[in-house]
Amino acid sequence: MAETILSNEPNHDTSETSKPTSIPQTTTENKRDLQQIDSAFALQEYLQSLIRADKDNLDALVELPPGQDQETWQYEHLRQLCLELNYLVVQLEVECTRQSCPEMKADEWQYLCAAHQAPTNCCAIDYIVHTLDGATTLLNSHKYFPSRISIPETSLKHYQSIARRLYRIFAHAWFHHREIFEAFEAYHSLFNDRTEFRVVGNMALLPIKTKLRGPPSLAPAPPTENDVIDEALDLFRANCLFRNFEIQGNADRVLIYLILFISDCLSCLGKAGKNTSQKEAIKILNSRALDNFALPGDPTFPLNALYASPGSDAARQELANRLVERVYVDGKQSKWWMSFQKKKFMNKSL
Ligand SMILES: [Zn+2]
Ligand SMILES: [Zn+2]
Repeated sequence: MAETILSNEPNHDTSETSKPTSIPQTTTENKRDLQQIDSAFALQEYLQSLIRADKDNLDALVELPPGQDQETWQYEHLRQLCLELNYLVVQLEVECTRQSCPEMKADEWQYLCAAHQAPTNCCAIDYIVHTLDGATTLLNSHKYFPSRISIPETSLKHYQSIARRLYRIFAHAWFHHREIFEAFEAYHSLFNDRTEFRVVGNMALLPIKTKLRGPPSLAPAPPTENDVIDEALDLFRANCLFRNFEIQGNADRVLIYLILFISDCLSCLGKAGKNTSQKEAIKILNSRALDNFALPGDPTFPLNALYASPGSDAARQELANRLVERVYVDGKQSKWWMSFQKKKFMNKSL
């Protein structure tokens, strides 16, 4: 069964322009029977069930369902694209600002915003929000798309321009906010699908890469592969922006635990002050890693309902060391990380 952690209160401040209320829900529910597609909304549900079943199977996602016409199917894809881009925008807003990206660029290309009377040189985040709003409005327009079951011939010309403009949002994220782009593509642990790991309680005992001495309580991971600690570091900032998080497997519980610990580490570094040297930071966080922690199962652990087994201090220590490597750039604390010291994952903390 999938579980969802709900944030106590909204924990991100978005602008007036985009306010998705939840991340796309994913469940193990099987593909819906095509027979059931008898209403306009059923086609959308069918597409979403394909995404849930296997979001990486692009062939299956674009394959025209029997009995449907291509225009209607493409229309649903465009709508779905808008929906998902809203989640990307929420994450981009953290670092894509008028200052960081005064122009809408993808690599060397620059784009003018078509949402105005005359093409306008909007900054990237404005371009993105205007374009997404424009596309959503057009797709919901009664004039051009009066029915979701059949699309007027004359409205098809809008598909290409919508797709082309929306694509630029991905391109901007890819070229200028790579970390966010990658986190957006996968915010759950990739280890959820792997069954070879031992499970204690309901947490997977995942292998980690570590140079630490002493009896490793966790199996070693191949040095060239990403382990769950890399995942936690990659996904931390994106996951902090979600209002809920659906646990899709035992590896996600490990991921969440590590994300909470990252939060805790950042707030320790915040308290230590921004002049703390990298060396001191390692010392502070390593001793923090060995502190007595509310572990899953303890009465004070914030997410007790979800956990049935203890966490690992070896993993915490390893994480502390790798976190410092990321937070410190040229011996200084990076503001992209430190700005998250007060942003709590689902408003929970260790
Ligand atoms: Zn940007
Ligand atoms: Zn604009």
